[in-house]
Amino acid sequence: MADNNTQAAESVFRADTNGYFGAYGGAELPPHLVAPIAEVREAYAKAVNDPEFQAEFHDLMAKYVGRPSLLYYAENLTKKMGGAKIYLKREDLNHSGAHKINHCLGEVLLAKRLGKKKVIAETGAGQHGVALATAAALLGLECEIHMGEIDVEKQHPNVIRMQLLGAKVVPVSAGGRSLKEAVDSAFDTYAADYQDTMFCIGSVVGPDPYPSMVRDFQSVVGKEARQQIQEVEGRLPDAIVACVGGGSNAMGLFDAFLGDAEVDIYGVEPGGEGLSGNRHAATMAKGSAGFIHGMNTLVLQEEDGSPSPVHSIASGLDYPGVGPQHAALRDAGRVNYVTCDDREALEAFSELSRTEGIIPALESSHAVAYACKLAKEMGPDQIVIANLSGRGDKDVDYVAERLGL
Ligand SMILES: *Cc1c(COP(=O)(O)O)cnc(C)c1O
Repeated sequence: MADNNTQAAESVFRADTNGYFGAYGGAELPPHLVAPIAEVREAYAKAVNDPEFQAEFHDLMAKYVGRPSLLYYAENLTKKMGGAKIYLKREDLNHSGAHKINHCLGEVLLAKRLGKKKVIAETGAGQHGVALATAAALLGLECEIHMGEIDVEKQHPNVIRMQLLGAKVVPVSAGGRSLKEAVDSAFDTYAADYQDTMFCIGSVVGPDPYPSMVRDFQSVVGKEARQQIQEVEGRLPDAIVACVGGGSNAMGLFDAFLGDAEVDIYGVEPGGEGLSGNRHAATMAKGSAGFIHGMNTLVLQEEDGSPSPVHSIASGLDYPGVGPQHAALRDAGRVNYVTCDDREALEAFSELSRTEGIIPALESSHAVAYACKLAKEMGPDQIVIANLSGRGDKDVDYVAERLGL
């Protein structure tokens, strides 16, 4: 990457005082949400510089989540691809099986610091709801998860998990009875009751401070990986790869490497059934500047500005927007955004399961697929790190059906 590119990119490594990364971000809120979100912003600005808060967070990371997670050299996969060495950052080994627990614990810790009794969120496929319910159970806060009625039916095991963890699941029957309605319902409940409640967003999306705050909580992933690869290889990787839904596991891995101009960075979006038509969720490839969930970012949208219907084989990736910092990093030329389609993700799912004995989440399979593609084009003296954002146990029934097992 040329030096002038790196300089241009640096301005989007951190948000400005209004929460903007270049042209994207901000906090454009309806009047009833201005005060509640301002409270979160102030609290986080203090917590981020408070050694006691940071120590408590990192203590939980070590003693509850099980960090540092392994940086695993996938030797069998490397040999099969016949190119660069492939390393996997094993977020699938975290307690609760994915990276989401990192930011959920950070957010619930902040809620506790604010003296709140309850955390609230929406969930689509249920992964965020389960991670938040886990963190709330540990830290002794009530947890309320809003979920569209259709998703409640489709994601029954996650509904049970949340209930077992002590959370209250609120089915939402308005409109299309899906994620969009669940977001509105959760925000309205929050606005009415924010003295006692904090809203916890599940990715690097939403109004400022959430994109920065969730990135900071996830940045432990890249900090560890950067140190681990230097310990085993004595140098930085040539490329790093992560899947991008909203973009939290990707920002978590990328953040520590943004200033390393010699490291190529790849974000992999879900190409679904192909980029023509709307059976994908490739916001970078096909979206345009727009507004969603309190932020300015790239959005897959209809002519009237409403979010388009999206699809991915990985339910955690089917979001019509993307974290604003990703949009800015693309414009600045620091991160390359590419796509993998459903079929490639499914192939990588099977490949990693068979060659390494690791069953990846379908979301993470997008990163594995692209890392394999890259490795094949690179030399044996080169290194690729892929973020294995979660384990695939949740996906086995669906994959078995697709593969006719
Ligand atoms: C939710 C989820 C994702 C997508 O979310 P990001 O915010 O884009 O990281 C990716 N992988 C797994 C395993 C998930 O559960």
